[in-house]
Amino acid sequence: MSAALTGTIIAAHGRHYLAEVDGRLLQSVTRGKKTNVAVGDLVHLKMTSADQAVIESIAERKTLLYRSDQYKSKLLAANLTRLFIVVATEPSFADDLVSRSLVAAEAAGIDAHLILNKVDVEEQLPRARERIGVYGALGYPVHELSARAHPQHAVDTLMPLLEGQSSIFIGQSGMGKSSLINLLVPDAEIATREISAALDTGKHTTTFTRLYRLPNGGSVIDSPGFQEFGLYHLSEGMLERAFRDFAPYLGGCKFYNCRHLSEPQCAVLGAVEEGKIARMRHTLYAQLLHESSQTLY
Ligand code: GDP
Ligand code: ZN
Repeated sequence: MSAALTGTIIAAHGRHYLAEVDGRLLQSVTRGKKTNVAVGDLVHLKMTSADQAVIESIAERKTLLYRSDQYKSKLLAANLTRLFIVVATEPSFADDLVSRSLVAAEAAGIDAHLILNKVDVEEQLPRARERIGVYGALGYPVHELSARAHPQHAVDTLMPLLEGQSSIFIGQSGMGKSSLINLLVPDAEIATREISAALDTGKHTTTFTRLYRLPNGGSVIDSPGFQEFGLYHLSEGMLERAFRDFAPYLGGCKFYNCRHLSEPQCAVLGAVEEGKIARMRHTLYAQLLHESSQTLY
């Protein structure tokens, strides 16, 4: 019997996983049909051949980021400490996705930052700044960058924020996420090809989540762009706490079990009326509350 090994999952595609053990990459599978492993997971493995292993167990997670629909949840990454949401001056970004990402980060206990990329596109800059300012006002740091026009500034801004952290970059496609990752991880494309070959998905796809190590002790996870960020798994209690702009008003409602939808003397609704909470945020809260009541699992 070979001794148990400990590794980090650095890529996942369907039920194919790649584990890094002492700098070596091992193709790994779960037992049975389980798909409960996430990139960033620390796992205990047993070798089944020279470069293959089976995942015996997953170490306790510090954090877990996931999205979900009515039917099932999908793990995005484990053990993250920081999340970067990448938006751009153009194409236009979806507030819904930004807000959902922030809610997911809050619920998971992950520090969230926003990156406004392509600030070189000056015509669109004022409008983008105004829109992103809504989140800046909530206390989320906003970093204005241009991967194309000011690459060194982008690296100098981001590197210290990544140091010693386990980070993920998420965003809609076209925002410049790959451009930023390529600046931070100059050999990212080579690594992606290697990972794709090692994952042996047969398709040599590049649309999988993968983790890169940085020289400063941090790591960065690049995830494929997505258009939907379902949060059906969040309970009502988690939801109201995940909206940090609601915090000053929670506990101020007439009813202790107020859902902040249409109850009389609701402190949250009062703050929306007074313009202290952006209406867009409350609308999303109501939508998420509705989603969480539709869960079928
Ligand atoms: P992703 O889909 O988010 O990974 O975005 P990409 O990194 O592939 O970038 C999408 C497009 O935006 C590409 O044509 C990039 O060259 C361009 N792009 C990326 N960063 C910048 C930037 O800072 N300024 C401008 N003008 N274009 C950029
Ligand atoms: Zn209320």
